[in-house]
Amino acid sequence: MAGPRSAAGGVKATIVDVSRLSRQPGSMLPVAKELPAPADMVVALARVPEGSPLDLDITLESVMEGIWVSGIADVEVLAECSRCLEETSWSESVALEQMYRYPATDARGAIIESGDEDEDTPVVVDDTIDLEETLRDAIVLALPLAPLCSPDCAGICVECGERLEGNPHNHPVTDPRWSALESLLSDPGQNPPEGDPDSVR
Ligand SMILES: [Zn+2]
Ligand SMILES: [Zn+2]
Repeated sequence: MAGPRSAAGGVKATIVDVSRLSRQPGSMLPVAKELPAPADMVVALARVPEGSPLDLDITLESVMEGIWVSGIADVEVLAECSRCLEETSWSESVALEQMYRYPATDARGAIIESGDEDEDTPVVVDDTIDLEETLRDAIVLALPLAPLCSPDCAGICVECGERLEGNPHNHPVTDPRWSALESLLSDPGQNPPEGDPDSVR
Protein backbone atom coordinates (compact mmCIF):
# COMPACT_ATOMS: atom_id res chain seq x y z
CA MET A 1 0.00 0.00 0.00
CA ALA A 2 1.23 3.50 -0.80
CA GLY A 3 2.37 5.64 2.09
CA PRO A 4 0.94 9.03 2.94
CA ARG A 5 3.49 10.79 0.75
CA SER A 6 3.38 10.90 -3.03
CA ALA A 7 6.27 9.88 -5.23
CA ALA A 8 7.20 13.54 -5.67
CA GLY A 9 7.89 13.77 -1.93
CA GLY A 10 5.13 16.27 -1.14
CA VAL A 11 2.15 15.37 1.01
CA LYS A 12 -0.75 14.05 -1.08
CA ALA A 13 -3.52 16.65 -1.28
CA THR A 14 -6.15 14.19 -0.07
CA ILE A 15 -4.24 13.45 3.15
CA VAL A 16 -5.68 15.16 6.23
CA ASP A 17 -3.66 15.59 9.42
CA VAL A 18 -5.78 14.45 12.39
CA SER A 19 -3.19 15.01 15.12
CA ARG A 20 -5.12 18.06 16.41
CA LEU A 21 -8.23 15.92 17.01
CA SER A 22 -8.50 14.66 20.60
CA ARG A 23 -9.13 10.94 20.92
CA GLN A 24 -11.80 11.67 23.52
CA PRO A 25 -15.02 10.32 21.95
CA GLY A 26 -17.24 13.20 20.87
CA SER A 27 -14.33 15.53 20.10
CA MET A 28 -14.79 17.36 16.82
CA LEU A 29 -12.45 19.05 14.38
CA PRO A 30 -13.75 20.98 11.36
CA VAL A 31 -11.60 20.85 8.24
CA ALA A 32 -12.14 23.17 5.28
CA LYS A 33 -9.73 23.35 2.36
CA GLU A 34 -9.48 23.37 -1.41
CA LEU A 35 -7.55 20.65 -3.14
CA PRO A 36 -7.05 19.37 -6.70
CA ALA A 37 -9.57 16.67 -7.59
CA PRO A 38 -8.09 13.16 -7.70
CA ALA A 39 -7.96 11.20 -10.95
CA ASP A 40 -10.48 8.64 -12.23
CA MET A 41 -13.73 10.30 -11.25
CA VAL A 42 -15.76 9.51 -14.36
CA VAL A 43 -19.06 7.79 -15.19
CA ALA A 44 -20.04 7.36 -18.84
CA LEU A 45 -20.61 10.93 -20.11
CA ALA A 46 -19.84 12.82 -16.87
CA ARG A 47 -16.59 13.46 -15.04
CA VAL A 48 -14.82 15.60 -12.50
CA PRO A 49 -11.57 16.57 -14.28
CA GLU A 50 -8.39 15.58 -12.47
CA GLY A 51 -6.85 18.62 -10.80
CA SER A 52 -10.01 20.75 -10.94
CA PRO A 53 -10.77 22.60 -7.68
CA LEU A 54 -12.50 20.49 -5.04
CA ASP A 55 -13.87 22.39 -2.05
CA LEU A 56 -13.82 20.27 1.06
CA ASP A 57 -15.90 21.15 4.12
CA ILE A 58 -15.92 18.27 6.60
CA THR A 59 -16.03 17.52 10.31
CA LEU A 60 -13.87 14.88 11.96
CA GLU A 61 -15.42 13.30 15.04
CA SER A 62 -13.67 11.01 17.49
CA VAL A 63 -15.59 7.83 18.19
CA MET A 64 -14.49 4.78 20.18
CA GLU A 65 -13.04 2.82 17.26
CA GLY A 66 -11.71 5.65 15.16
CA ILE A 67 -12.72 8.83 13.37
CA TRP A 68 -16.08 9.50 11.75
CA VAL A 69 -15.78 11.83 8.76
CA SER A 70 -18.84 13.67 7.46
CA GLY A 71 -19.41 16.75 5.34
CA ILE A 72 -19.53 18.06 1.81
CA ALA A 73 -17.27 18.16 -1.24
CA ASP A 74 -18.12 20.76 -3.89
CA VAL A 75 -16.89 19.85 -7.36
CA GLU A 76 -17.23 21.02 -10.96
CA VAL A 77 -18.78 18.36 -13.18
CA LEU A 78 -18.05 18.33 -16.92
CA ALA A 79 -20.42 16.27 -19.05
CA GLU A 80 -21.81 15.65 -22.49
CA CYS A 81 -25.58 16.01 -22.76
CA SER A 82 -27.01 12.54 -23.36
CA ARG A 83 -29.63 13.95 -25.76
CA CYS A 84 -27.77 16.57 -27.82
CA LEU A 85 -24.10 15.71 -26.97
CA GLU A 86 -23.36 19.39 -26.21
CA GLU A 87 -20.70 19.93 -23.55
CA THR A 88 -22.21 21.12 -20.28
CA SER A 89 -20.95 21.74 -16.73
CA TRP A 90 -22.33 22.46 -13.29
CA SER A 91 -21.33 22.50 -9.60
CA GLU A 92 -22.27 19.48 -7.55
CA SER A 93 -22.32 19.26 -3.74
CA VAL A 94 -21.55 15.69 -2.72
CA ALA A 95 -22.21 14.38 0.79
CA LEU A 96 -19.37 12.45 2.42
CA GLU A 97 -19.68 9.93 5.25
CA GLN A 98 -16.88 7.53 6.12
CA MET A 99 -15.51 5.76 9.17
CA TYR A 100 -11.71 5.57 9.57
CA ARG A 101 -10.70 3.04 12.22
CA TYR A 102 -7.66 3.11 14.45
CA PRO A 103 -5.32 0.20 13.82
CA ALA A 104 -5.66 -2.54 16.44
CA THR A 105 -2.94 -2.34 19.10
CA ASP A 106 -1.76 -4.65 21.87
CA ALA A 107 -1.41 -3.64 25.55
CA ARG A 108 1.89 -1.90 24.82
CA GLY A 109 0.48 0.09 21.91
CA ALA A 110 2.13 -1.92 19.16
CA ILE A 111 0.04 -2.36 16.02
CA ILE A 112 -1.37 -5.86 15.66
CA GLU A 113 -1.91 -7.27 12.20
CA SER A 114 -4.72 -9.61 13.14
CA GLY A 115 -5.91 -9.98 9.58
CA ASP A 116 -9.57 -10.08 10.52
CA GLU A 117 -10.24 -6.35 10.31
CA ASP A 118 -12.92 -5.04 8.03
CA GLU A 119 -10.99 -4.60 4.80
CA ASP A 120 -13.43 -1.99 3.51
CA THR A 121 -12.86 0.42 6.39
CA PRO A 122 -9.87 2.71 5.85
CA VAL A 123 -7.35 3.09 8.67
CA VAL A 124 -5.90 6.08 10.49
CA VAL A 125 -2.19 6.00 9.58
CA ASP A 126 0.35 8.01 11.60
CA ASP A 127 -2.29 10.56 12.66
CA THR A 128 -3.44 11.05 9.07
CA ILE A 129 -6.38 9.90 6.99
CA ASP A 130 -6.43 9.70 3.19
CA LEU A 131 -9.71 10.95 1.71
CA GLU A 132 -8.95 9.91 -1.88
CA GLU A 133 -11.05 6.70 -1.98
CA THR A 134 -13.82 8.27 0.10
CA LEU A 135 -14.03 11.22 -2.29
CA ARG A 136 -13.91 9.06 -5.39
CA ASP A 137 -16.60 6.64 -4.17
CA ALA A 138 -18.99 9.43 -3.16
CA ILE A 139 -18.43 11.61 -6.23
CA VAL A 140 -18.70 8.76 -8.76
CA LEU A 141 -22.01 7.75 -7.17
CA ALA A 142 -23.26 11.33 -7.52
CA LEU A 143 -22.47 11.58 -11.24
CA PRO A 144 -25.54 11.14 -13.49
CA LEU A 145 -25.63 8.24 -15.94
CA ALA A 146 -27.59 10.35 -18.45
CA PRO A 147 -26.58 14.00 -17.99
CA LEU A 148 -28.64 16.74 -19.65
CA CYS A 149 -27.61 20.27 -20.72
CA SER A 150 -31.03 21.42 -19.50
CA PRO A 151 -33.90 19.44 -17.95
CA ASP A 152 -36.01 19.87 -21.10
CA CYS A 153 -33.27 19.51 -23.72
CA ALA A 154 -34.99 18.90 -27.06
CA GLY A 155 -32.13 16.76 -28.30
CA ILE A 156 -31.04 16.65 -31.92
CA CYS A 157 -33.03 16.73 -35.16
CA VAL A 158 -33.48 13.23 -36.56
CA GLU A 159 -33.32 14.68 -40.10
CA CYS A 160 -30.10 16.71 -40.01
CA GLY A 161 -28.44 16.00 -36.64
CA GLU A 162 -28.41 19.67 -35.59
CA ARG A 163 -29.32 20.61 -32.02
CA LEU A 164 -32.96 21.63 -31.60
CA GLU A 165 -32.16 23.65 -28.43
CA GLY A 166 -32.44 27.32 -29.43
CA ASN A 167 -32.92 26.23 -33.05
CA PRO A 168 -36.32 24.55 -33.35
CA HIS A 169 -37.00 23.68 -36.96
CA ASN A 170 -38.71 21.32 -39.34
CA HIS A 171 -37.59 20.05 -42.70
CA PRO A 172 -39.58 20.39 -45.91
CA VAL A 173 -41.70 17.39 -46.68
CA THR A 174 -40.02 15.59 -49.54
CA ASP A 175 -43.03 13.60 -50.69
CA PRO A 176 -43.49 14.80 -54.33
CA ARG A 177 -47.24 14.78 -53.91
CA TRP A 178 -46.81 17.72 -51.51
CA SER A 179 -44.17 19.67 -53.46
CA ALA A 180 -46.65 22.08 -55.02
CA LEU A 181 -48.09 22.95 -51.63
CA GLU A 182 -44.59 23.28 -50.20
CA SER A 183 -43.57 25.87 -52.78
CA LEU A 184 -46.74 27.83 -52.05
CA LEU A 185 -46.01 27.83 -48.31
CA SER A 186 -42.32 28.76 -48.63
CA ASP A 187 -42.87 31.51 -51.27
CA PRO A 188 -46.14 33.14 -50.30
CA GLY A 189 -45.45 36.23 -52.44
CA GLN A 190 -44.78 34.29 -55.60
CA ASN A 191 -47.29 33.27 -58.21
CA PRO A 192 -48.52 29.76 -57.73
CA PRO A 193 -46.84 27.23 -59.98
CA GLU A 194 -48.67 25.98 -62.97
CA GLY A 195 -51.54 23.73 -62.25
CA ASP A 196 -54.09 23.82 -59.50
CA PRO A 197 -52.44 22.93 -56.14
CA ASP A 198 -55.68 21.29 -55.05
CA SER A 199 -55.24 18.73 -57.80
CA VAL A 200 -52.29 17.13 -56.00
CA ARG A 201 -54.42 16.09 -53.03
ZN1 LIG B 1 -28.79 18.80 -24.56
ZN1 LIG C 1 -32.91 19.38 -38.75
